[in-house]
Amino acid sequence: MRQQQTLLNPISCTGVGLHTGKPVTLTLRPAPTDTGVVFVNRNGHAGAMLAASVDHLVPTELCTAISGNGFQVKTIEHVLAALAGLSVDNVFVDIDAAEAPVMDGSSAPFVRLIQSAGVKAQNRRRAFLKITRPLEIVDGSRRIRIEPSSTPRITYTIQYDHPMIRTQTYTYDHSTHAFATEIAEARTFGFLQEVEALWARGLGRGGNLENTVVLSQEGILNESGLRFSDEFVRHKVLDLIGDFSLLGLPFIGHLIADRSGHALHTRLVKQILDHPECWVLLNADQTISQPEFSPSLSSSQRPATAVALQAS
Ligand SMILES: [Zn+2]
Repeated sequence: MRQQQTLLNPISCTGVGLHTGKPVTLTLRPAPTDTGVVFVNRNGHAGAMLAASVDHLVPTELCTAISGNGFQVKTIEHVLAALAGLSVDNVFVDIDAAEAPVMDGSSAPFVRLIQSAGVKAQNRRRAFLKITRPLEIVDGSRRIRIEPSSTPRITYTIQYDHPMIRTQTYTYDHSTHAFATEIAEARTFGFLQEVEALWARGLGRGGNLENTVVLSQEGILNESGLRFSDEFVRHKVLDLIGDFSLLGLPFIGHLIADRSGHALHTRLVKQILDHPECWVLLNADQTISQPEFSPSLSSSQRPATAVALQAS
């Protein structure tokens, strides 16, 4: 158990959006305790704030997006994964376009930003959501499940009829070191036929071989090769870490995903919040004041949170 954490200093990067292809500047700034991850619009409705919460999720294809307070920001999962992976709880994310920068298609550039900004402990405890009963979503051959565990762990399995993938399974035991060394470098990937179809529909405009592993029929188009032989499943773990951060607080449990994706990831987040009898809060400060930004739990869950607190 630990204290809440934020950045020591603000830090910025620039890039393009994977789907829009538009230039974007993203700045990570220190934020007070209980802020959570809050996006700040630096374009148009300047200054509007939007918590990275499942409450603000919008259905999109191929990425995770949130919308509200007059703006939308999509493809947020890789920067969210870096923040969750390095245990940065409170941060303002200033952004001047409708999509986060894709950078190299992984979380590694955001990890390097956070590491160079520095992380500091704050004077309030970090609450954890500990799973006490399993929850599961099955959708045909795809499924995702969370069950009780003494530590945060993810087991992900993917299956593609491609010679460089076939079946890959990866088990990740969370620590900031493990995230930075095992997961953060894994890049997003796509199949050549699908990439071409995306371009035809006006999506994936910022995608290229500098930020996407592109699979042809027999191999990959990227001349530099893979960063890990199982880079594909590691990237799915990365996406799941980013999507699960929309829960608003770190979980303790074993997430088991089989051929899952963004939609199932976030459906399970919602299901967890809808079933407070399946978890307890650990290490929460006894008096939970109403924070200015309250992304930790959806508004309908706050009474249940209080009950769980008293019970634990
Ligand atoms: Zn991804």
